[in-house]
Amino acid sequence: MRALVIDDSKAMRMILGRLLKEVGFEVSEACHGRDALDKLGQTGAVDLALVDWNMPEMNGLEFVQAVRGDGSFQAMKLMMVTTESEIARVQAAMDAGADEYVMKPFTTESLRDKLTMMGFAA
Ligand SMILES: [Mg+2]
Repeated sequence: MRALVIDDSKAMRMILGRLLKEVGFEVSEACHGRDALDKLGQTGAVDLALVDWNMPEMNGLEFVQAVRGDGSFQAMKLMMVTTESEIARVQAAMDAGADEYVMKPFTTESLRDKLTMMGFAA
């Protein structure tokens, strides 16, 4: 299983990456949506992308819209990683084709539960 962690915070990428590795993912990172699209263009689709909301260049919603507008990425699962203050806007990402979301601060258990719900065995 391959996962892409997309976040402009290096600390958050490290936290999420470590957790995904524990669950069994091979993890790569991108620092914003445009960087993520470039990397996906090189590597092809991944099984799961964890997507931050606020990022420079291309934010999380714009990334979701771009991925869902590209036929070669339809099987990718997209999980928004958001804060409570952004929760009202998460619906826009779900409407654009995101599959799930997790709210910061999250626990290892809550993220594992979401991944299990999405069909990724922990
Ligand atoms: Mg951010």
